[in-house]
Amino acid sequence: MKVAIIPEKCIACGLCQTYSDLFDYDDDGIVKFTNSSEKVKTFSDNADILTAVKACPTKALTLL
Ligand code: SF4
Repeated sequence: MKVAIIPEKCIACGLCQTYSDLFDYDDDGIVKFTNSSEKVKTFSDNADILTAVKACPTKALTLL
């Protein structure tokens, strides 16, 4: 599964990391991938990531 983050849409609610620690935040609380500055990453199928993507209130996380 390929996941994109759109930091411009993130409202720093902190929800996604409660589902998956593959999501992290910058100093302002805006989403980033853990240990990465990339905006798109490919992961093996992962239900927690899928839940996080679906739960994001602003669609700052998307599946490609
Ligand atoms: S759930 Fe969405 S809005 Fe909330 S911190 Fe994560 S990416 Fe940002």
